Order: sequence, then C-alpha cells, then structure tokens
Amino acid sequence: MKIEVTIYGERRERRVSFPAEWVICDECRGEGKSSAYLGAYTMDEMDEAGPEFEEDYFAGRYDRTCECCKGSGKLKVIDYDRVRGRLQEAYLRAYQEQEREERAYQRICAAERRMGA
Ligand SMILES: [Zn+2]
Repeated sequence: MKIEVTIYGERRERRVSFPAEWVICDECRGEGKSSAYLGAYTMDEMDEAGPEFEEDYFAGRYDRTCECCKGSGKLKVIDYDRVRGRLQEAYLRAYQEQEREERAYQRICAAERRMGA
C-alpha cells in the first residue's frame, strides 16, 4: 500500500509516494465518530443537563462523524520503517519539514482566531 503526497519544492511541486500503513484514528479511537466537539462534561454539568441528555450523550446520539478520519476510524500514514534509499529518505525529510511548517502555521492561525483576528 502506498500514500501519495505533494512536496512543494523551491522549483516545482513533486508528487511522491511512500510505503503506507493503517493506524487507528487517535481523535475518535477508531470509532469513526465522537462527541469530542461538545467538550468534556463534569458531573455537575451532567446533573444540570438532566438525565435525558445524559442518556442520549452516552448512547452516542450527539456523536458526529470524525473530521480527522472522515468516519472511517483509521488513517493512512507513512510507514517509516519501509522507506528505503537515499532519494526516498531525502523526500521524506523534505515532507516532514513541510508538515512541521504547516502545523506551525495552523497553530498561528488558530491562535489568531482565538484573539478575534
Ligand atoms: Zn477519527
């Protein structure tokens, strides 16, 4: 199994495929859906919300499709152990670097949204 990614080089974009494996989605623990968007409830809040809400909540009636895995419960990720050869390793480093920058960028965006930008 392969996973295809795009590496945005200085001169051109490159489609590269790496060996891939499936992992259970961390966000929903493989369920494909979760009520995590509601946040966590304390017992006091549950008492206030009432027994009907509590029942629905635990029955999963508030669950939404997991955005992370789109409901499949699993994610295709690069199988690092099977990346072989200097070229593939160079691509992998470039891709990891790109992902780090992307995540840093998204953190900045999220922080700005919180501050109302
Ligand atoms: Zn998920």
